[in-house]
Amino acid sequence: MSERKVRVRFAPSPTGPLHIGGVRTALYNYLFARQHSGDFVFRIEDTDSNRFVPGAEEYILEAFQWLGITFDEGVSFGGSYGPYRQSERREIYKQYVQQLLQAGKAYIAFDTPAELEAKRAEQPNFQYDARTRLEMRNSLSLTKEQVEALIAEGCQYVVRFLVEPHRDVHVHDLIRGDVVISSDVLDDKVLYKSADELPTYHLANIVDDHLMEISHVIRGEEWLPSAPLHVLLYEAFGWTDTMPCFAHLPLLLKPEGNGKLSKRDGDRLGFPVFPLEWHDPKTGEVSSGYREKGYLPEAVVNFLALLGWNPGNDQEVMSMDDMVRLFDLSRCSKAGARFDYKKMIWFNHEYILNMDDSAVAEAFMPILKEHGVETTPERATKVVSLMKGRVNFIEELWEQASYFFEAPEAYDEKSLKKWWKEEAPMYVSELCDFIEKNPVFNGAELEPMVMEWIASKEWGVGKVMNAFRVTLVGAAVGPHIFELTDFLGKEETLRRARRALEVLKVE
Ligand code: GLU
Repeated sequence: MSERKVRVRFAPSPTGPLHIGGVRTALYNYLFARQHSGDFVFRIEDTDSNRFVPGAEEYILEAFQWLGITFDEGVSFGGSYGPYRQSERREIYKQYVQQLLQAGKAYIAFDTPAELEAKRAEQPNFQYDARTRLEMRNSLSLTKEQVEALIAEGCQYVVRFLVEPHRDVHVHDLIRGDVVISSDVLDDKVLYKSADELPTYHLANIVDDHLMEISHVIRGEEWLPSAPLHVLLYEAFGWTDTMPCFAHLPLLLKPEGNGKLSKRDGDRLGFPVFPLEWHDPKTGEVSSGYREKGYLPEAVVNFLALLGWNPGNDQEVMSMDDMVRLFDLSRCSKAGARFDYKKMIWFNHEYILNMDDSAVAEAFMPILKEHGVETTPERATKVVSLMKGRVNFIEELWEQASYFFEAPEAYDEKSLKKWWKEEAPMYVSELCDFIEKNPVFNGAELEPMVMEWIASKEWGVGKVMNAFRVTLVGAAVGPHIFELTDFLGKEETLRRARRALEVLKVE
């Protein structure tokens, strides 16, 4: 078989915000497309108008933009296989429905919802298929004249796929191998509804994958049960030779316990399941998003890439380019991937560590401003360089480093108990005098001088310096003390220390 150009698609239904599992699916398609210099198509599957949610399409596009997952063609990107929104392709689907009807591969059915309901009540395991279809009202059980009369009367109907019984249907899956299913378990799926003149998901999906020359269908495991029907549809149309290769990705599992990841797990454990914050247009409910929670898009992407795939070694932190190079569908697992959200926090920490200090500072500046701090990018960058190793989120820098910008107003009790003992005021007071008189202040030179001076007094370094630290920071925490004094400058250092001497009484 000659090599086909790789063309993959991400085809969401705009029924709400994009779930994080959908993001993983899109990412794998993206990596695969880029690795093979293929095309990545963005198609909107909106044939179920009852489930349409306004704003969902825009949300999905914005999410991918944030994540750095790019498309080559599709809704909002253009391309020569359009339109890419299924609701704009009605006329195309009609032709293909006709083709199946004419070939006797599909038939018209008039059963009303009430009739179907009654049948189900009568036969608990009722399935519309080879065994039962002749008991129903359709073009196989009625005469041609009856069918024409019903249509002429304006009766609504559906078109059902005629599934041949007793056949083994093979789905060749790049992750799961050859999956075989008996056609006896399949029902005659509805492909088209006259009521809204729209096809169902199954027909539209197959017709579009064919017309858009999709070479690989990479999607979540929840679509595996539909795959045998899809294989039969390709066959019915005579498109078996160009049928895409399938790859059904493993489920995303709850962080703990059994079952698949749900929004409730996120609510309970405090992590988002959506890339961006989502405001439900109907209920007004707000669901949190990774972006708004302070995750870096690169960290989210890296974390998701490893949910169901690994590069075959211990490498965890990978750039998008690394992943494009290393990604391999045959290394994807069949078993579900646990959604270990704590690992995602770890990735965020790693990405902050690897980011340029000035870039982190750029994100930190608005946070400083919110807290009423006006400073320069240089000073923010300095603080970032000293403190970024201690945070998982850029936002946490304020909690960890506010004392660089604001003198302490209160002093941590535990630290006082430990370090503000009887002699502490004397140490700090003398140290202030020493520093004040010392000709140099920069930390590199000041530090050995202070050490020598403490030694000459025969005091303990820990006792003196920790008492001093508490006066500058408000607690016995923080970076190397001379880094801090450098940042504060001589005047502010002495001011803070002497103010503490006034405020703090020894108990
Ligand atoms: N519209 C389906 C979805 O919402 C597409 C499934 C597929 O990729 O075939 O995910």
